[in-house]
Amino acid sequence: MTTSAVSTFQAPKGTYDLLPPDSAVFLAVREAIAAPLRNAGYGYVETPGFENVELFSRGVGESTDIVSKEMYAFETKGGDKLALRPEGTASVLRAALEANLHKLGNLPVKLWYSGSYYRYERPQKGRYRHFSQVGAEAIGAEDPVLDAELIVLADQAYRSLGLRNFRILLNSLGDKECRPVYREALQGFLRGLDLDEETRRRIEINPLRVLDDKRDAVQKQLVGAPMLRDYLCDACKAYHEEVRELLGAQGVAFEDDPKLVRGLDYYTRTTFEFVHDGLGSQSAVGGGGRYDGLSEMIGGPSLPSVGWALGVDRTVLALEAEGVTAAVPATTAVFGVPLGDEARRVLFGTVTELRKAGVAADLAYGGKGLKAAMKAANRSGARFALVAGERDLAEGVVQLKDLDSGEQAPVRLEEIVTTVKERLA
Ligand code: AMP
Repeated sequence: MTTSAVSTFQAPKGTYDLLPPDSAVFLAVREAIAAPLRNAGYGYVETPGFENVELFSRGVGESTDIVSKEMYAFETKGGDKLALRPEGTASVLRAALEANLHKLGNLPVKLWYSGSYYRYERPQKGRYRHFSQVGAEAIGAEDPVLDAELIVLADQAYRSLGLRNFRILLNSLGDKECRPVYREALQGFLRGLDLDEETRRRIEINPLRVLDDKRDAVQKQLVGAPMLRDYLCDACKAYHEEVRELLGAQGVAFEDDPKLVRGLDYYTRTTFEFVHDGLGSQSAVGGGGRYDGLSEMIGGPSLPSVGWALGVDRTVLALEAEGVTAAVPATTAVFGVPLGDEARRVLFGTVTELRKAGVAADLAYGGKGLKAAMKAANRSGARFALVAGERDLAEGVVQLKDLDSGEQAPVRLEEIVTTVKERLA
């Protein structure tokens, strides 16, 4: 057998593989984000990796980069127009509406999800074409406590992982009463600026996004632009003030960011982003907000809702940037080293018993000799090796070797599980 041959294939551009041991950190991050949600009454939802393309063009918005430039849209052999999901909210809301979850019981319907998302982006560190999010949505209630709850839960998730250098940016985008008035005022201001063709087009379809332009030449001209904060109607102002107070009362620090707009069309009122200062240009580790109009945009009833999505890839990068080691469940604790065919059968049984008893155990495969098998045992990170040869088996024992100290002693076969558990405790 040769192991030196390399596959001719590579992971597609903008993607990467999750491999051990790093993959364990990803699982730990997903779990850490999910735990506070489960604890707060959110139920797990899973939707397909692709949807009718219209769901996103109507829901997320034709004018957004996500839909107009970055969507993996395709036509099937059967003529269906589909797209790989670029985000989670539209799909989750579609699923909730389709199953009539909003009619079954108390509102809000609280759901969480975890999965892969796809955007045809220009890849760079922290920005991929395939990435992973854990998200939460609270559908069908207008209550500032819900907005605050979600922000608190995300804060808790990041803190439980040991992250410290993140900030919460908060803004209100107004509602269908006050935002159009602001939009017009902003358009009036923007039309008077010296901007390129594409940006001028953006003024007409999505003027708020111009505020988000990263270029200095544009930012300089934006000084003195009308701010949404000055246009909020009384209801939006009061709502926002209450969200701010609720967060303050829970001891969650945030920064007011009147320029925060985010890249999706469906947001109204509360909008927030979690940014990490150790990540360079791709600093957003998560974000979300209220989307009171989305249900109607995709043909449903009025269901004011709020949610967020946290990026797993970037959270892992943030942990690295802070030098935090996520608590990863223990890998192999015991490693079987069988010497000969009989020993292989016996140790396979022992390893199975250990696993059933909740002890992580592994085995040398392929008839390795003592030297190669011990090397495998050491490489596995196990605390103990169970070495068994013909003579041991004849005496009804295996050798339990402590791989840290090198000490070794025989243990009777029927006592292995108890002995190992004692020694590991
Ligand atoms: P968004 O849906 O754009 O609000 O994104 C929510 C979170 O998902 C972001 O804060 C990122 O952490 C993550 N995310 C979005 N796009 C990408 C991407 N292309 N690569 C990696 N993570 C991403």
